[in-house]
Amino acid sequence: MQTIQRQLKEDGSCILTFDRPDSPVNIFDVGTLDELEAHLEAIAQPGLGVKSLLIISSKPAVFIAGADLRAIQQMSQDALGRFIDLGQRIFAKLAALRFTTVAAIHGACVGGGCELALACDWRVATVDHSTKIGLPETKLGILPAWGGSTRMPRLIGLAAALDIILGGKTLAAKAALKRGLVDAVAPSEHLLAAALPWLKKGKRKHELPIGDAVSAPFIRGKVRADLMKKTRGHYPALLEALEVATRAPALKDPVAMALEKAAVLKLSALPSSRSLIRLFFQQERAKKFTFPGTPPPAPVGAAAVIGAGVMGSAIAQWISSRGRRVILRDIDASRVAAGMASITQLFDAGVRRHLFTPKEARDGIDRISPAPAEVPLHAVDLVIEAAVEKMEIKKKVFARLDDLTRPDAILATNTSALSISELARATRHPERVVGLHFFNPVQQMQLVEVIKAPETSPAVAERAIRFVQSIGKLPVLVKDSPGFVVNRILLPYMVEAAELFWAGSKIAEIDESMLDFGMPMGPLRLTDEVGIDVAEDVSATLTSAFPEWMRAPRILPKMLEAKLLGKKSGAGFYQHPKGKEPSVNNALRKLRPKGGQPFPREELALRMVLLMINEAARCLEEKIVETAADIDFAMVMGTGFAPFRGGPLRHADALGIEKVVDDLARFAQTGLHFKPCALLVNLARNKGKFYEDSNPSPG
Ligand code: NAD
Repeated sequence: MQTIQRQLKEDGSCILTFDRPDSPVNIFDVGTLDELEAHLEAIAQPGLGVKSLLIISSKPAVFIAGADLRAIQQMSQDALGRFIDLGQRIFAKLAALRFTTVAAIHGACVGGGCELALACDWRVATVDHSTKIGLPETKLGILPAWGGSTRMPRLIGLAAALDIILGGKTLAAKAALKRGLVDAVAPSEHLLAAALPWLKKGKRKHELPIGDAVSAPFIRGKVRADLMKKTRGHYPALLEALEVATRAPALKDPVAMALEKAAVLKLSALPSSRSLIRLFFQQERAKKFTFPGTPPPAPVGAAAVIGAGVMGSAIAQWISSRGRRVILRDIDASRVAAGMASITQLFDAGVRRHLFTPKEARDGIDRISPAPAEVPLHAVDLVIEAAVEKMEIKKKVFARLDDLTRPDAILATNTSALSISELARATRHPERVVGLHFFNPVQQMQLVEVIKAPETSPAVAERAIRFVQSIGKLPVLVKDSPGFVVNRILLPYMVEAAELFWAGSKIAEIDESMLDFGMPMGPLRLTDEVGIDVAEDVSATLTSAFPEWMRAPRILPKMLEAKLLGKKSGAGFYQHPKGKEPSVNNALRKLRPKGGQPFPREELALRMVLLMINEAARCLEEKIVETAADIDFAMVMGTGFAPFRGGPLRHADALGIEKVVDDLARFAQTGLHFKPCALLVNLARNKGKFYEDSNPSPG
């Protein structure tokens, strides 16, 4: 079956329409590339009388979504080399056509799709939300190698191109227009009409601006130093992409293409790119999975959020930005007002980043009804409770929901660690209670833990999962257990960090050691962000649930006493002056015992990481989620756990389970919380691993 339709018009214009059969997306596999090459060869023949070419897609939300990653994942280095050659050759043919070429872009135009558009003379895009143009390859640990690393800097200049290539960014149409990545924008229904006149504009030569050619070595040196500082060398794709994008654009095409190819072959052989591509497939799976054996549920329309604090207001903003009406309720009128102010700020920031038009932002704010007093909630399909992390308060909120809501509404809680079952029993209909654990900051973190208690009906769990997917978040289904998965694994790590400080290690050294490991933020900085009070609440829940191995950090009560609540109070492990970078709070040393012995620097990260691995293994042992991959996915998406390492359990495999158990046992001689769990011990004994195959097939 054909993907590309060719239409030759009387005026000599030719239209190639991409429409991959039986698929919602267009992608480039070998077959589609061959098809494209045959069309380009045919229309290049003078006899056919083609005077211009327009490339368009007939999919509702995709132009071309890039190369077939599943196929790439299975390819040998040789096969990948041939695949790169094929794409480079075809896009070179497109660029070399003697008549004008235009890409008419509606929907995702990313990776190979963007590289095709870059090989055209002109680009016209729709202002639709689905339209995203860019090169996300470095996020997958590779780089654009079908001419993108060469043609993007030539088209929009080095600085703007590096921003897109190194950031793995995709731009909305208007932002792309501003950067010169597209030449015009139009409403979706007028795309063709807007694009056709560009066929008469003539050929266009894309050359690196002279200034960029001169400053490329300087830019390369400066950006390289910044990247090394920021990523500590953990992302080789960024360094390779920087090399190629700052050298190739000034070279002749064949040499430039050879640079791109050599770099992508080198990168694709590294474990980091395999981890990042695997992560991409896990994200895709999370977007689509459903609860087994349940019929498609009614979609969730309007929602109510109870508690207008940090989380409640951010959740309300997110849901409203996805077109739903939201009631935002708090017992404290000043918190409602502050919540609405922060919602307005979030919409304003979205307008600045071209995520919303000013009208969409206004409509988004208008869809939220602030409620400083109790109001009936009969119009909503979903309530999300985000009040303070205290069981008694939450139970009172849930007990009122029986009378305030319709019997078919879902009752969800954003609790960090409390029992969903216990909350469910506070209502007359426990089957409609479910956990929806969003992460902070809501606008950045894609993960939502969907927690199914024994009481939760499968239909409610399924409806909650679909709701999470419908608002553009990624659900992971978790059983009800204290701290669920992410906080359960994170807590022992954060506690160890605080205890290392208590014992005499330096705040900066503890955090630096985990930044070196690849975490986006050190554990003590993270504790400040979460809030010392919230960390103390979660710690209390988990230490009482798992007294044998969970410890309470001894410094936290002292910090609470001294009103050092972390970022929200201006000081915690760090000082947080408004608008400035935090700096270590040296005064905190007074709160710990005198004469402590700092741990050796090289032991710090190992101790903290081993505790995460041990707890992750326990979560798997207790079947809180189905698979090791679910745990790793949740940790990467919920905490930013070094994505290139693939997650704590994948990392344990890489270290070697026997070594993990040996190290845990060694540390357990002085601290029982290091005792390796039964699953780890058994795996070590049987020379097993969490993943059968170190490079398993996707999905
Ligand atoms: P917060 O202290 O910022 O906000 C809580 C709000 O709840 C306050 O505005 C308070 O006035 C309000 N409230 C208290 N009792 C209420 C009641 N009976 N009815 C209505 N409103 C009431 O707290 P937060 O950080 O937004 O956390 C809210 C929930 O989300 C907690 O369960 C917390 O564990 C969870 N959570 C927090 C984070 C985080 O990083 N802060 C992350 C994920 C989940």
